[in-house]
Order: sequence, then structure tokens, then C-alpha cells
Amino acid sequence: MIPAAFDYVRAGSAEEAIRLIGEHGDDAKFLAGGHSLLPLMKLRLAQPSVLVDIGRISDLSYIRDAGDHIAIGALTRHMDLETSSVLAEHVPLLAHAAGQVGDPQVRHRGTIGGSIAHADPASDLPAVVLALGGTMVAQGPNGTREIASSDFYQGFLESALEPDELLTEIRVPKVGGAGWSFQKFNRRAQDWAIVGVALVRNNGSSGVGLVNMGSTPIFAQGVVDAMVAGASAADAAAHAADDAEPQSDINASVEYRTHLAQVLVRRAITEAGG
Ligand SMILES: Cc1cc2nc3c(=O)[nH]c(=O)nc-3n(C[C@H](O)[C@H](O)[C@H](O)COP(=O)(O)OP(=O)(O)OC[C@H]3O[C@@H](n4cnc5c(N)ncnc54)[C@H](O)[C@@H]3O)c2cc1C
Repeated sequence: MIPAAFDYVRAGSAEEAIRLIGEHGDDAKFLAGGHSLLPLMKLRLAQPSVLVDIGRISDLSYIRDAGDHIAIGALTRHMDLETSSVLAEHVPLLAHAAGQVGDPQVRHRGTIGGSIAHADPASDLPAVVLALGGTMVAQGPNGTREIASSDFYQGFLESALEPDELLTEIRVPKVGGAGWSFQKFNRRAQDWAIVGVALVRNNGSSGVGLVNMGSTPIFAQGVVDAMVAGASAADAAAHAADDAEPQSDINASVEYRTHLAQVLVRRAITEAGG
């Protein structure tokens, strides 16, 4: 499968990337790791006329302890998340989930910024950042703004980013002492989840994100409310699909996805300490 013809430009900085995307208009797209965009282009489901390659902006690849949160540059690769000692200490859920993305080749090329910006409900990291209550930092021609993860995912493969905005940083709270779990059900080890659950259980700020249970990553508010009210794992898990709109596809029916979500949420609550 061969993509439609496109022009290619490489940006050396965030500012240059934003200028280039502005110059080339709505048909231009940022290229990070290319592991979501290039498959879409090969299938002709995306046909950008210009690719602005941001993959070598090394300033945007970092994981930093920023006091009350961890700041992660958008160009940080999944493999760097998986092996980060900072994340292992302060946000082990994110490090673990990054290690479940695809296979080693995908994890060495794909970036957290690409995964979040792509806003695929079947991807792992968007639901993890949603469960954690993370914040996205976007830079555009008129400056920088912060977007709460609860406002970020707006539709299928649709985020709150403007076409000329670059996602530069993802901020996640430190939850080192919290219980957590990541449950991913797939048919083959390197596949996307048929259903996935990211759960963090912290004093007063629990979060549950669902993978592949709707057109966006889903925050399972019904489960969180039940957990806060002291429900058992089984009773809280009964609410797993309350906030979801699962679709049927070649892998699973709506009923099967709903059942899976309930089973995985129950396992997650138990693994995270009850
Ligand atoms: C075989 C295979 C298996 C996979 N398995 C999984 C899996 O199990 N779980 C999972 O979660 N993912 C999986 N993926 C997807 C993988 O994680 C991708 O790397 C990731 O979703 C996208 O990151 P990227 O850096 O490759 O982004 P790209 O493909 O370069 O970009 C994706 C989209 O985001 C935009 N974009 C990228 N970076 C930015 C930015 N900084 N600011 C604004 N817009 C930006 C691009 O314009 C494009 O529209 C798999 C991919 C493959 C090919």
C-alpha cells in the first residue's frame, strides 16, 4: 500500500514546526513517530499534502519531576516512558501501560504526544492520562495553553487541539503511593486492546479510564462514584459501562465489550488494593 504523494519538511524546533504548519494550511500534518499517521496514509484514510516532521525536536523529549507533577515532553517515546525511573517512582501506571503498547519497534518509534494527539479510543495512553487527570500543554501561533484531559478528547480521532497547535507537554500528577492497575485484554500480545482499563486509587482522587469502550477514551465516573461510596469491587465494576458507548466490530459485540469492561474493572479494583 502506497500513500498519496506528499511534500516533506523537517522542523528543528517547536516554533519552526508551528510556523511551517501555519504556512502550509489545513492539509499539512505533524509527523512524530509515524506509527499511527503513516498506516492511515497508506490506507488513504489520511491524505495530507505536507508532512511537518517534528520527530527530531530533541528538546521535546524529556521526563521531569516538576514538583507536584511529572512533566513529559510530547516527543518522548513509549520505550523511554516504560524504562523511566522517575515514572517508576511517581507514576508507575503510566510506565507500565507504555510497556504494553504494541511491540518493541512500535515502542521505540511511537511518542506519547502522537498517541494523545491522535486521540484513538483504542490506544492505551490516552485512557491512562485521562484516569490520572493529566493536563495537555499546547503551543500555537498565539502562545501556549493548558487543556485538561477531561476536555481534550472530543470525538473519534478528534482532540481539542487546533490544526496549527503543537502538543508540547503532558503533565501527570504524582501518584507514587496510590494503588493502580492496567488491564488490557487482547487476542495477540502486540495488539490494541479489545477493552482496556487504567485505574488509579488515591486518597480522594481515584480515576478509571476505559480503552475501546466508545468513540473517545472514557472516564468511568460511575465506577469512581461507587468506589468513593465504599462499594465492593464487584458492585463498583457493575457500573463499568455506565459512561461508555461501546461499538461492535470484528473483534467484539457490544455485549461482549460491556461484559469485558465489568470483568476488567473488577480485576483492576482488586489489584489496586480493593
Ligand atoms: C503495529 C502497531 C501496533 C500498535 N499497537 C498499539 C497498542 O497496542 N496500543 C497503543 O496505544 N498504540 C498502539 N499503536 C500506536 C502507536 O502507539 C503510535 O505510535 C501512537 O499512537 C502514535 O504516536 P506517533 O508518535 O507514532 O504519532 P504519529 O503517527 O506521527 O501521529 C499521529 C497523529 O498525531 C499528530 N501528532 C503527532 N504528534 C503531535 C504533536 N506533538 N502535536 C500535535 N499533533 C501531533 C499527527 O499529526 C497525527 O495526526 C500501534 C501502532 C502500530 C503500527
